[in-house]
Amino acid sequence: MQDLRTAASALTILSEEETMFREAVREFAETEVKPHVHAMDEAAQFRPDLIPRFFELGLMGIEVPEQYGGAGGGIFLSVLAIEEIARVDASAAIYVDVHNTLVTNALLRWGTPEQHQQYFPRLTSGLLGAFALSEPGSGSDAFALATRAERKGTGWELTGTKFWITNGAEAGAFIVFANAEPAKGYKGITAFIVERNFPGFAVGKKENKLGIRASSTTELILEQCAVPGENVLGPVGQGYKIAIETLNEGRIGIGAQMIGVARGALEAATAYVKERRQFGKAIAEFQGVQFQLAQMATDLEAARLMVYNAARLKDAGQPFAQQAAMAKLFSSQVADRITSSCLELFGGYGYSKEYPAEKYYRDAKIGTIYEGTSNMQLQTIAKGLLK
Ligand SMILES: Cc1cc2nc3c(=O)[nH]c(=O)nc-3n(C[C@H](O)[C@H](O)[C@H](O)COP(=O)(O)OP(=O)(O)OC[C@H]3O[C@@H](n4cnc5c(N)ncnc54)[C@H](O)[C@@H]3O)c2cc1C
Repeated sequence: MQDLRTAASALTILSEEETMFREAVREFAETEVKPHVHAMDEAAQFRPDLIPRFFELGLMGIEVPEQYGGAGGGIFLSVLAIEEIARVDASAAIYVDVHNTLVTNALLRWGTPEQHQQYFPRLTSGLLGAFALSEPGSGSDAFALATRAERKGTGWELTGTKFWITNGAEAGAFIVFANAEPAKGYKGITAFIVERNFPGFAVGKKENKLGIRASSTTELILEQCAVPGENVLGPVGQGYKIAIETLNEGRIGIGAQMIGVARGALEAATAYVKERRQFGKAIAEFQGVQFQLAQMATDLEAARLMVYNAARLKDAGQPFAQQAAMAKLFSSQVADRITSSCLELFGGYGYSKEYPAEKYYRDAKIGTIYEGTSNMQLQTIAKGLLK
């Protein structure tokens, strides 16, 4: 009789290469990041020696072709890296996330062969990237951005202020969005590759944040910042498309960060309830506690499957924008719930900075805000349904 089982693999079954990669990242996160997590969070300062380690370990060009020093992988490998690092520290994970899923991805897709030649060898060996779209007056309404680009000879001058820029304190290359033809509305938005040492470029105030405190989030000030003509990324006036399409991919990375944070919290809670004793027994023996853990694990499994599937769709060249928006929305909601339950299972100790629960709780919140708030994800999902 014919065997009707399909050969299709479960989403969580990893190839040998994926398994080895994940193990290597986990080992790095456990041994080199974890010992510093508490101090970095307290100081709101990322250790400068960890960023070169990301590069040395091959985590900063995961999707960049090998000829430029990258790993030649897909976004699924980025997801594995981001998830493993976020399990230990969401701040460390966002350095790797923004660099891979926003910066190198945008360049990969929209950069010219000359831009690839010029930037990839640097972006895979030490030059950290950042993605600068948001401004004080434009967040969800990103295309209302006020930064202007004016042609000057063969180049451009950029003037405006960017806000909330992740990696801002340490990055050397920024993808900056500015409007080159305001009369055309969003169809004037253009993307530029801006280096930190370009004249007229300055990094401003660093935010003091609730969560992902060790990740730098800064203002950028552009005062007639001189950008060479060859540093326009993609066609003039297509910046809105570059922003939307890059963020579609980026959201899968934020989903990965959220499932990593949630897994860290679930593992911490599971260990704690076995140790903490009340009423003469470990609190893990109470069915009420067991059911809380079971709910957390079920939520996490669903979120992980959504994130993995969005990544696998992207790597298979299939449409994935809806699934990415759903994965980001759901995984950030799940991370919010799981980290809250984790904190409650730690009881009073959950409220103390001596224990890890409160940090997971603070770190989870950002998932509902950046790369499009939850309402913006719902809008994308609804648009897809109703079109
Ligand atoms: C830590 C951190 C790091 C960040 N990193 C980056 C970065 O690297 N690069 C970058 O460019 N930006 C970055 N951002 C900015 C981030 O993407 C924006 O904060 C986000 O898009 C929301 O914009 P906003 O803060 O202006 O909120 P607003 O747009 O003012 O939204 C406020 C509230 O109104 C709701 N809302 C707005 N419009 C609608 C609508 N039409 N329908 C329903 N509800 C609506 C929102 O959902 C939200 O709840 C970062 C932000 C933070 C906090």
